[in-house]
Amino acid sequence: MSAVRVEEALERVIECSSPRATVHGPLLSLVGCIVSADVQSPTNSPPFHQSAVDGYAFKATSINETHISIVGSSVAGMPYVGSVGDGSCVRILTGAELPAGTDTVIMQEDVTCTIGSIVLDPDNIEQGSNVRTRGSQCKEGEVILKAGSKLTPAAIGLLASVGISEVTCIAPPSIGIVITGNELTQPPEPLAPGAIYDSNGYMLTAALLDGRIEPAFVVHVKDDESAISSTLQEALMNCDVLLVTGGVSVGDYDYVPTALSSLGVSKQFHKVMQRPGKPLFFGTHEGGIVFGLPGNPASVLTCFYEYVVPCIRTLSGMTPVGFRSSMAPILGSVKTKLGLKTFLKGRLGPRGVEPLPDQESYKLTSFADANCLIVIEAEDTEVNAGTVVSVHELVDLWS
Ligand code: AMP
Ligand code: MG
Repeated sequence: MSAVRVEEALERVIECSSPRATVHGPLLSLVGCIVSADVQSPTNSPPFHQSAVDGYAFKATSINETHISIVGSSVAGMPYVGSVGDGSCVRILTGAELPAGTDTVIMQEDVTCTIGSIVLDPDNIEQGSNVRTRGSQCKEGEVILKAGSKLTPAAIGLLASVGISEVTCIAPPSIGIVITGNELTQPPEPLAPGAIYDSNGYMLTAALLDGRIEPAFVVHVKDDESAISSTLQEALMNCDVLLVTGGVSVGDYDYVPTALSSLGVSKQFHKVMQRPGKPLFFGTHEGGIVFGLPGNPASVLTCFYEYVVPCIRTLSGMTPVGFRSSMAPILGSVKTKLGLKTFLKGRLGPRGVEPLPDQESYKLTSFADANCLIVIEAEDTEVNAGTVVSVHELVDLWS
């Protein structure tokens, strides 16, 4: 199979990533997950008529005098017991239940307080003022969170406010990472001749943590055919999405695609007409997904943002694309290779988008300074300063 176009590759990734089964669990175990069915309030909220201020509660139509006697108090969590007679009032604090026989609260700033009574202007009373009525936030049986909503802190607070402690969501997928390469050393161990540090393991873990996903495992394996095969076999069984880095190209030690195929993974595509990240492999097996990401770190991260994020988002019940797309004038000229869609590290600002230096796929220096990827179409080879280009903003990829 020859290299596929970027649009086709993304479409294939999304097609192969249907939302996962649901899971029921405690609210705090599902932060950021997508609610799979409408949630109804089991109760009225507030559960009783409540004072919105510190003041005095009475029945509005019963107040004709300026001097009103105070017959008791109602404090949040300690309601007044009994009924308040016409022409009298209770001291009431914010959040406290309105006693029977009252319908209105006057703010303490609007009265003069004397011992055992208050002085007010009866013409200044508006019935129902400063009262949060029962069910005014939501009524019993009302849908308060729609299927497809995200469990944000506010959504979790809302559910807790009506007494819900558990919820049903689309299960977050588990993601495993396999890093291949004889040359790789873990920081901060000293480097042997010819060795380099493994950055992909750290970087992919961080990229997942950014989306509140703790990788199920991060395994390192040497470029040994049988070690790769047995490691991948076990890895495939222990996660929903496997991210492999390195060994997917055409070098002598690039065993990953053949090992995956002999383990029953069906190749959806191998090689995409893009730069960086051309050797990208994507396959599926019995409900699981595998990305063979090229070894070079900038390729890994570009493929993560362009393909892995849409995959994980779709599996999680979210809309596929995480980055915000925008258009901006490019603040410098660039040359790219004909036939390859190019993703350039860029810095988007108020004047436009600056293509950063050091675009080679083994370098992360400018990626660390980038806030977007500039997309240059496969048909273009030269883009002059001032041309309006498409930009994928690398902010809030998981919201
Ligand atoms: P490969 O696709 O395995 O041939 O790797 C391509 C390039 O990426 C080589 O220069 C590798 O040394 C480098 N590379 C592979 N894996 C990693 C890694 N985990 N961290 C940093 N560089 C890597
Ligand atoms: Mg390698």
